[in-house]
Amino acid sequence: MKRIRAAFTVSLCTLALGAALAPGRAFAEESLHDRAMRLHKSAIIVDTHEDVPEALEQAWADISKRNAKGHVDIPRWREGGVTAPFLAAYVNAEFAKKSSGGSSKKALEFIDLIHRLVDANPKDLVFADSVEGIRAAKRDGKIAILIGIEGGHAIEDSLGALSAFQRLGVRYMTLTHTNTNDWADSSGNFFDSKFDPKTYAVHGGLTDFGRDVVREMNRLGILVDVSHVGEKTMADAIAASKAPVFASHSSCRALSDIPRNVTDDQIRAIAKSGGVVMVNVSSLFLSQKSVDAYLASRKAVEPEVQEVQERYKDDATKRDAELKKVREKIHYPDADWSTAVDHIERVMKIGGPQAVGLGTDFDGIDDPPAGLEDVSKLPRLTEELLRRGHSEDEVRGVLGENFLRFWDRAEAARKAMEPRTEPLPFSKPAS
Ligand SMILES: [Zn+2]
Repeated sequence: MKRIRAAFTVSLCTLALGAALAPGRAFAEESLHDRAMRLHKSAIIVDTHEDVPEALEQAWADISKRNAKGHVDIPRWREGGVTAPFLAAYVNAEFAKKSSGGSSKKALEFIDLIHRLVDANPKDLVFADSVEGIRAAKRDGKIAILIGIEGGHAIEDSLGALSAFQRLGVRYMTLTHTNTNDWADSSGNFFDSKFDPKTYAVHGGLTDFGRDVVREMNRLGILVDVSHVGEKTMADAIAASKAPVFASHSSCRALSDIPRNVTDDQIRAIAKSGGVVMVNVSSLFLSQKSVDAYLASRKAVEPEVQEVQERYKDDATKRDAELKKVREKIHYPDADWSTAVDHIERVMKIGGPQAVGLGTDFDGIDDPPAGLEDVSKLPRLTEELLRRGHSEDEVRGVLGENFLRFWDRAEAARKAMEPRTEPLPFSKPAS
């Protein structure tokens, strides 16, 4: 039914456009490509995970210009039609080690960087921290920049720090990164050749304090992100949260079996909470063929990895530099870009058409699929979704409206919560 109505609307539209612009071609059919471009241009497009700060830390670049490296800059956001990227204030798992420390400082540095990017590019960018902020940016022809923290260790176990991050504009937090922190189990680091999920299951999900963190996030209006968390943690977070939860950059485990992807049961549980699964476009997240080839290739270099680890066991810097060289020998084929649409459709099928969105992980991945090499290529997804018969409403949902509806539901839950009456606990010096 929807497809018939859509076709009818297009004909009328084409008729009007044709009459105005091309006399004599009044009945020309709008091509699928043109229809996709029209839809894509008018839609709000949200990408809930881009690692621009980390990419800039590794190699500084002027994002106002099109860069040869990386996946994201202002010209490519424009070309990709992106309305609202969440940039990750990502805190590497190493900071969680007691010998390192500084997790909050690292998050603050990236939060500051994100604000600086907005300040330096006022013609194109505007800071946003709400659904209305995103819609206003679209009306004004600007790109709304939002902040998500990646890695719950960023709060250094302090609800006061969590609250302060909210005041700096943070609107989601991934409960863990690849490390299990003091209050939540992670799904772990699948890319570590010694990966064993059991070693990450330390608490059996969320601790009591972890549940407090989730509820404080609800109260503050920080969206609960379950990408990266262990299976029990995800179930505990959904149970503890007063608001729907979401996965900011995960794909479907049924199509690519890695622990970072969500199972069908998890898709159902996230959707039931009122949340969304935002599809990650790393080849390893999209394609079982890529995963299988990756594991075989990694196995081949494993003896070399062991040798380097033994040789430089007392020199972490040298060891990591050498390991990087060895890991460059790991090869696997890129996924095809259309597999991203297979994952979108899988989430739609299992969780419903309103349960899916985009969380590309651009600038945080090394292996974007062939044909979706950077953020400028996103219009291809719109065209492919239309080609596969999805309605324009469904496509707008995938591109951003599903996420915005989820955020509205989370905001409603926040407003329904009692304000905190007791003071937040204060940190004490280590003795
Ligand atoms: Zn991540």
